[in-house]
Amino acid sequence: MAHGSNYKVAFRRRREGKTDYGARIKLIDYEKPRLVVRISNNQATVQIVDYSPEGDITRTSAVGKQLADYGYLGNTGNITGVYLTGYLCGKRALAAGIDYAILDIGLRSPIKGSKIFAALKGAVDAGLEVPHGDFIFPEDERIRGEHIANYAESLDDDEKAKKFSKYLERGLEPADLPANFEKGLPIMELEIVDALIPDLEEEVMDVNLVQRMHKSGRKVNFRVIVAVGNKDGYVGLGQGKAKEVGPAIRKAVDNAKYNIIKVRRGCGDWGCVCGREHTVPFKVQGKTSSVSVNLMPAPAGVGLVIGDVGKTILKLAGIHDVWSQSFGQTQTTVNFANAVFNALKTLSEVKATQEDLKKMGVNY
Ligand SMILES: [Zn+2]
Repeated sequence: MAHGSNYKVAFRRRREGKTDYGARIKLIDYEKPRLVVRISNNQATVQIVDYSPEGDITRTSAVGKQLADYGYLGNTGNITGVYLTGYLCGKRALAAGIDYAILDIGLRSPIKGSKIFAALKGAVDAGLEVPHGDFIFPEDERIRGEHIANYAESLDDDEKAKKFSKYLERGLEPADLPANFEKGLPIMELEIVDALIPDLEEEVMDVNLVQRMHKSGRKVNFRVIVAVGNKDGYVGLGQGKAKEVGPAIRKAVDNAKYNIIKVRRGCGDWGCVCGREHTVPFKVQGKTSSVSVNLMPAPAGVGLVIGDVGKTILKLAGIHDVWSQSFGQTQTTVNFANAVFNALKTLSEVKATQEDLKKMGVNY
């Protein structure tokens, strides 16, 4: 071998051309969450990732195909779609209490005006703080998709039908892309949530004073955690920070709505055959930093065997019976609440056949 006896086989992901370990170590050294942007032909994936020695932990994420939920009909893989994906992830990050991240573009080249930076602009416009220089962003007209609309206008009808068949299939006139872009901005999401789930109840779980030393002196903020739910399968959890309690609560409520999830419920315990959606259908685990919570199916009538914070969230979700175990610093409301919420999220990820689900009384 031409390499001689000192040849060392590189790490697997280096050989596969997936990870630049040098760059990764530098990024991890900042000890801040990373805004990870990865772009494929059809859509972008934007995530907020924390380093942990056991493996990266994704705190929150957004993918292009989710934009359809907010009324965006355009292409998810172009600059407009990628920007919106970044925006959605930014909003979700804020809702999860993350307000600062550093950009991680992996092995992509940092080309001015490219999609990577469209995603970055989306996240920054959503309110996430990410160090950057503004010169790197694509032009606003391109983000709004005006160049696409103009191009479509320059074509005759036959050509347009050919080149924009997917747009037309989804019922979007390419010329309306800029208008649809505005609609796709997930800021609309709150109104959509309010419209779809009208009887949401709010519950303030925790109000805390947090202090931070800043070069201009001490900064004191209220941090509020709010859960929202309709007591029938929908629940959300959010944090808000502000100088006064009122605005902090309003932010937290908005964020909780951004974070709303549909909860899988059923009649999971073999001892119970009522068939109603009153408990969690499977045993699931949720974790946040030091706290971990197990939720287990319980027969009807058992009630919510869990701490008060958990009770509030489960009640709002419309779960009436559950057994639980919790480990770690469970008296920290934020962490306990997040752990319970994460456990509820995992419910939808459990793979089961339609038949089994039916047996357990699960409709979703
Ligand atoms: Zn039952």
